[in-house]
Amino acid sequence: MIIVMEHNATQEQLNRVLKYIEDRGMKSYIHKGDLLNVVAVIGNEINLNPENIAALEGVTAVKKVQEPYKLVSRVSHPEDTVINFPNGVKIGGLERPVLMVGPCSVEKDFDGLLQVAKAAKEMGCQFLRGGAFKPRTSPYDFQGLEEKGLQYLAQARQETGLLVVTEVMDTMDIPLLCQYADVLQVGARNMQNFKLLKALGRINKPVMIKRGPAATIKEFLLAAEYVVSNGNPNVILCERGVKGFDSQFSRNVLDIAAVPIIKKLSHLPVIVDPSHATGKRYLIEPMGKASLIAGAHGLMFEVHHDPDNAMCDGAQSLNIEQFKETTRVFNKLIGRIDYDNKNK
Ligand code: PEP
Ligand code: MN
Repeated sequence: MIIVMEHNATQEQLNRVLKYIEDRGMKSYIHKGDLLNVVAVIGNEINLNPENIAALEGVTAVKKVQEPYKLVSRVSHPEDTVINFPNGVKIGGLERPVLMVGPCSVEKDFDGLLQVAKAAKEMGCQFLRGGAFKPRTSPYDFQGLEEKGLQYLAQARQETGLLVVTEVMDTMDIPLLCQYADVLQVGARNMQNFKLLKALGRINKPVMIKRGPAATIKEFLLAAEYVVSNGNPNVILCERGVKGFDSQFSRNVLDIAAVPIIKKLSHLPVIVDPSHATGKRYLIEPMGKASLIAGAHGLMFEVHHDPDNAMCDGAQSLNIEQFKETTRVFNKLIGRIDYDNKNK
């Protein structure tokens, strides 16, 4: 249930509404908008009589929220969430789309990572991505450098000023990751690891959740609801393709329609990862362009200094030259001609 307060409602009137909800055993979240304050009620609403609430002073409307994802829904929070980073970077709303690039996993060769990071900085990207804890299908594949990888990312951040996005696989690693990362990524395979999502609700760093390969949009939004309802409002959603029946040419099926659908249903920022969606480097540019045109708040894709010898996902990684070419196209599309040397 959503309770909309009058624009000139007093704090006292708001407190009375909150107490009314609390007395009936429910939790409330206040969203302070530019014009109106909205109270979202979470819990079993059986004890709440909407007519009685509507009659409380200062209340202008009471709406039932049909969707199970209440806090991430646009109904409870009409304005877009814009996530602010300490260095001034913003994601969401009408902000210019952001670019997150880097290798699938952080590897032993720090110099390779730094080459990618420097190129990313030069092209105006805001984030360096790279896994230090890797979810691999086979236990015999490279599992990541763990803390050493985090140190490499932090070192690259220090040299370039890029923000760091890296994956968290286990609640146990959260304190360590919080020391190094600017955004904690929940991988597609962990989208419904509810214990992990709840724990990420209790940290004060933004969390990026990747869509599970077989997850519906509703399940995707409910994963975000886990984080937000546990106290962390800064969640980014990442569409990365879902399982189809034909993986011969594209690893997954990129659900581009998910972008405008999520923007309609939710206020959270949504970005697209064309690397994991397709598994093919030549598809990064066309699918990235399509995603930006569909309204994505950013793109994340893989870049490696030597993709042919990458420890993982080389086939869906651009080399540095290809990255620059592709990013010129993206920069042009998002109106950043200052980075578009070729098309000036
Ligand atoms: C990744 O971003 O490196 C990754 C493992 O992606 P996903 O969880 O989408 O498979
Ligand atoms: Mn990868």
